[in-house]
Amino acid sequence: MKIPVLYYHKIDFPKKNAVYKGLYVTPGRFKKQMTLLKILGYSSIKPEDLLSFIKGDKPGVKKPVLITFDDGYKNNFINARPILKNLGFTSLIFISTGFIGKKRSISDERESIPEDFLDEKEIKLMHDDGFSVGSHGINHCYLDRLEEGVLMDELIASKVYLENMLKTGIDFFSYPFGSYNLDVISAVKRAGYLGAFTTVKGKVGIGDSAYEFKRISVNGYNTIFNFLYKIIFLQ
Ligand SMILES: [Zn+2]
Repeated sequence: MKIPVLYYHKIDFPKKNAVYKGLYVTPGRFKKQMTLLKILGYSSIKPEDLLSFIKGDKPGVKKPVLITFDDGYKNNFINARPILKNLGFTSLIFISTGFIGKKRSISDERESIPEDFLDEKEIKLMHDDGFSVGSHGINHCYLDRLEEGVLMDELIASKVYLENMLKTGIDFFSYPFGSYNLDVISAVKRAGYLGAFTTVKGKVGIGDSAYEFKRISVNGYNTIFNFLYKIIFLQ
């Protein structure tokens, strides 16, 4: 058995001039996808459960799925949270701490449309709901291009910031732009994280590395059939 880890970005209608329209999944589609998971008997698990699973522990539920969001957009709170809560699902949200409460664009030259990001209150409310929070760095950088000191700061300062805010350990990381290499993995370990998520396509199996968790991207172009294929047939 393998466990699907889904990842989303924005749950919203695409902005008119957005370059990456695929990053938007409309609330209607998201609701259909989550409802389908429910009907098929899936239960959302926590990242800690995934750690136990790769070490060989049996998952506590029959059909586990881990639902993740990258970047920490405000629309996750407004549009995704009520849908997830209604269906009894939780998720794991990766926050870039330099964006908290701000309206700006991710540091990618190709996309200049600003987005609203979650503020501290919203992050706390989701955490209170039982959602897990992980770090996505501070400034959403390509970590493999940074020098050692800056890299460690991205990893440690973001972790400490979220830990102080939520009064809990922040044990999981997601690589911004999916970019990492062996040096980055080693730094993530030294920073004290227990696991990290990539954008490498696939499900998570027993024996996989905790610092290279594969995920399945769900984008705005996916129909419900594409979604079903990803959940059931994709390995
Ligand atoms: Zn990101």
